[in-house]
Amino acid sequence: MARIPINLSTGSIDVDSSQGETVIVGIDLGTTNSLVAFIKDGEPYILTENGKHGLVPSIIHFGKDGDIVIGEEAKEKLSSAPERTIYSAKRLMGKSIDDLKNYTENLGYRIVGNVEDEGKLLQVKVGDTYYNPIQLSSKLLAELKRKAEALLGKTVDKAVVTVPAYFNDAQRQATRDAGKLAGLDILRIINEPTAASLAYGAGLDIEESENVVVYDLGGGTFDVSILYIDKGIFEVLSTHGDTFLGGDDIDDLIVSHWKEMYDLGKVDSYLLKPLAEEAKKTLSSADTAQVKFHDTVLEITQEQFDQLIQPIINKTLDSCQKALTDSKLAKSAIDKVIFVGGSSRIPTIKKKVGQFFGKTVYDQINPDEVVALGAAIQADILAGNRKDLLLLDITPLSLGIETVGGLMDTIISRNSKVPTQVGRNYTTSVDGQTKLRVTVYQGERDMVINNRKLGEVILTDIPPMAAGIPKIEIQFLLDANGVLTVKATEERSDTKTSIKIQSQYGITDEEMGKMLLESIQNAESDLKERSIQEAVTEGRMVYNSNIKFVKQNESWLSDEQKEKLRELNNLLDAAIESKDKDAINEKLEDLNHYSRPLAEIALDKVVEENLSGKSLNDE
Ligand code: ADP
Ligand code: MG
Repeated sequence: MARIPINLSTGSIDVDSSQGETVIVGIDLGTTNSLVAFIKDGEPYILTENGKHGLVPSIIHFGKDGDIVIGEEAKEKLSSAPERTIYSAKRLMGKSIDDLKNYTENLGYRIVGNVEDEGKLLQVKVGDTYYNPIQLSSKLLAELKRKAEALLGKTVDKAVVTVPAYFNDAQRQATRDAGKLAGLDILRIINEPTAASLAYGAGLDIEESENVVVYDLGGGTFDVSILYIDKGIFEVLSTHGDTFLGGDDIDDLIVSHWKEMYDLGKVDSYLLKPLAEEAKKTLSSADTAQVKFHDTVLEITQEQFDQLIQPIINKTLDSCQKALTDSKLAKSAIDKVIFVGGSSRIPTIKKKVGQFFGKTVYDQINPDEVVALGAAIQADILAGNRKDLLLLDITPLSLGIETVGGLMDTIISRNSKVPTQVGRNYTTSVDGQTKLRVTVYQGERDMVINNRKLGEVILTDIPPMAAGIPKIEIQFLLDANGVLTVKATEERSDTKTSIKIQSQYGITDEEMGKMLLESIQNAESDLKERSIQEAVTEGRMVYNSNIKFVKQNESWLSDEQKEKLRELNNLLDAAIESKDKDAINEKLEDLNHYSRPLAEIALDKVVEENLSGKSLNDE
């Protein structure tokens, strides 16, 4: 089989506009940077302006005058107008405000819950305007589309877009919606590591199969995936990573390092961050890096840098080990290690990862561009120009239904290949039951309450039968795009119903938006949240009754006792405010411990007073 020719040059090229009026492009919609690639004469190219690199920073700046700028220009606004400059919007995709609690505090811009849905759907607030993550991503995609059309001189309305392998359905759906909003028909969503392997033509030029590791360290995320590639068939065996680990963290480490080394205590970190990034990049090809901040020269050596980032490298190696374990492959079974993402350029990382796998790494293709190039190849496959390739992906999370007691019964398990079709038989639990609600969830937890609800099918008109008699088959069909169709059939009476859980075609934007909203609204109400809520409620009750207790027993409690009760109560109050379950329980315990003997005295007094015909209350 022929190897896909990869042109490594990214200089601008002439585009032959005679090849039809439209073109399907490949888009790497990255957390930090995005790129567009296309195919010309069978070869993938990165779309570039005036021979520059094709990276478009995934940053949107909303000007006060209503102007929106995207990319490099927006990046420049990060330090001067952080509250109006949105970066890393990809991290917000398909997430609820609860999902991102700790993260949102450190952002330069504001993230708020949508009041209309109890704050669950996350929105970014810029001035008086709210934007949801889909709208933000769509602005990026629209800009990429605009650029592509201008440079190619053709209509660009179809695309293959890449997403991280671990993206769940809500996140993939959100990406599709963003495309629609931007006027782009997203023909296929493929996994980033799959795209990277495609670009390397891994496994295409030899008869034997290959196991390939894709190590992707970008700006804000780290992913490692293990693929099995056999005669043009790409199969993701396992995937691991960290959505909060990347070049950004490395920049932060350099900033902290400088703050320790130089007198920079009062300088805002975000002012130093661009300099840290510059120094970091310098270190990819030099032994020391120096940058100037006002009158101070900030320096960092390769050695200091290597030491700083050691914990980050170790974290990524932990993920590599986990991915290996999940793939059930030994290290020795790995044939290739492919390097992806801007941060994979760091020499120590290359060395350490190479050592870990005991392999030389593949880094010939620019690690910024490799994913977009692969997406373009996939676009070419979809356009019917390549018949020698087939993509097999896996589903990142288990799919199942709710059974008695709120338990999750998994029908398609995590890491199953798609497309796939699985059926399972169920029955009714009540005599004469004529309706059956099948609720579909996605996730790995045993209780459905902890998983994400995707939708439901209601099977109606089941002829009344005794419990246990109906034979109900639930079928899950997952197509190559990860679109799930659920079919329910009562086989004795041949009563049928089916629902497409998510679909990119044939439904309106409005319906799609509603479905997405629903899936977020029905997102997991976490057990942890619930136990915190319970502790808060109990704490509040005890707090109030303690205040009452002090008031009612003022006459006989000593000043010291009153003071101590107030003090313990204030500590409880603070714990309740902090919503820390363990702290609340601890303070409850302290208060109970101290007040129990006093409560007994009070009780004795009530009995005493009652016996003497006087109530303690009416003094
Ligand atoms: P993403 O996939 O998250 O959008 P990229 O793959 O574009 O991100 O990687 C961006 C990151 O790569 C940034 O943190 C950037 O600082 C870093 N980076 C780019 N070039 C280099 C380099 N030469 N050395 C180290 N880091 C680099
Ligand atoms: Mg990337």
